[in-house]
Amino acid sequence: MGNNVLYIVVPCYNEQEMLPTTTARLVKQLQLLQEAGLISEESRILYVNDGSTDETWTLIEKYCNEHEQVCGVKLAGNVGHQNALVAGLETACDKADIIISIDADLQDDINVMSQMIEKYNQGYDIVYGVRRERKTDTWFKRNSALSFYKLMKKLGVKSVYNHADYRLMSRRAVKQLLQYNERNLFLRGIVPLVGYRSEKVYYDRSEREAGESKYPLSKMVSFAVDGITSFSIKPVRMVFTLGILFTLIATAILIYVLIAYFSGRAVSGWASLILSIWFIGGCILIGLGIVGEYVGKIYIEVKDRPRYNIETKILK
Ligand code: UDP
Ligand code: MG
Repeated sequence: MGNNVLYIVVPCYNEQEMLPTTTARLVKQLQLLQEAGLISEESRILYVNDGSTDETWTLIEKYCNEHEQVCGVKLAGNVGHQNALVAGLETACDKADIIISIDADLQDDINVMSQMIEKYNQGYDIVYGVRRERKTDTWFKRNSALSFYKLMKKLGVKSVYNHADYRLMSRRAVKQLLQYNERNLFLRGIVPLVGYRSEKVYYDRSEREAGESKYPLSKMVSFAVDGITSFSIKPVRMVFTLGILFTLIATAILIYVLIAYFSGRAVSGWASLILSIWFIGGCILIGLGIVGEYVGKIYIEVKDRPRYNIETKILK
């Protein structure tokens, strides 16, 4: 019997359709891992209910009664996937030696957990689950995700390609991660900053079996914007460069206008004028918007509000 205590942290937002299968499969997986001697009997599944409006919490309570291995935390409201995950990590890290986080829809292959734990035993503190291909995602999701990873890389943000939030972390890695106190959370960017030895484990991603994606386009976009603006100030620099470029162009135009004036060729059209006013106006607004995004982030960080509030805990 292994003596590593494993906690599987699962954030859940309106997952009543998924929970029955998820629970059955995770409980089974825990048993298998125990039998293989990889983890101890105190290992648990920890559901974090992220302010669901459906029967998710009732179900979690029910499974906590039925299964020795299931625990639950109920957050007082919806705080979003990343914050719910942090709530789970923070709750689990007092008891667990290793923590694996996974989405409630189990699109990520739970059978690679044993490989993850083996890597941990070989001395790795962080093991990333990486998707081999994105066959099961829609064309749009696949391509938008791909360009996002590329953009992140260009902007100098360290992140693991095709890795979502399916990963194993040792207790000390989680403790270290929790030292990153920012409210604008983008775990995929922060975990690599923790810097302990890491490894990757590859798997194929399956389709969501029940319920629908909790990441509509609007949430995906704001997630991506968070990811970029929390890690890189390059967009602000780009605005600055653009400003310089425009000043140079304006100087060139000024010279042209002066030459035209003194050679007696009066400028007749206002079209170019109107056009440039609109264009420059647009550029200024974009620039303001980008700067505003950062100012907004500072505002949120400065308030230093708690990332989540726990209402109830069922721990064993
Ligand atoms: N989730 C959450 N809070 C939210 C939105 C999502 O805890 O506000 C959870 C959700 O229950 C799931 C995970 O985050 O366990 C990922 O969501 P989903 O599978 O819908 O995302 P997708 O796989 O479509 O990117
Ligand atoms: Mg999913």
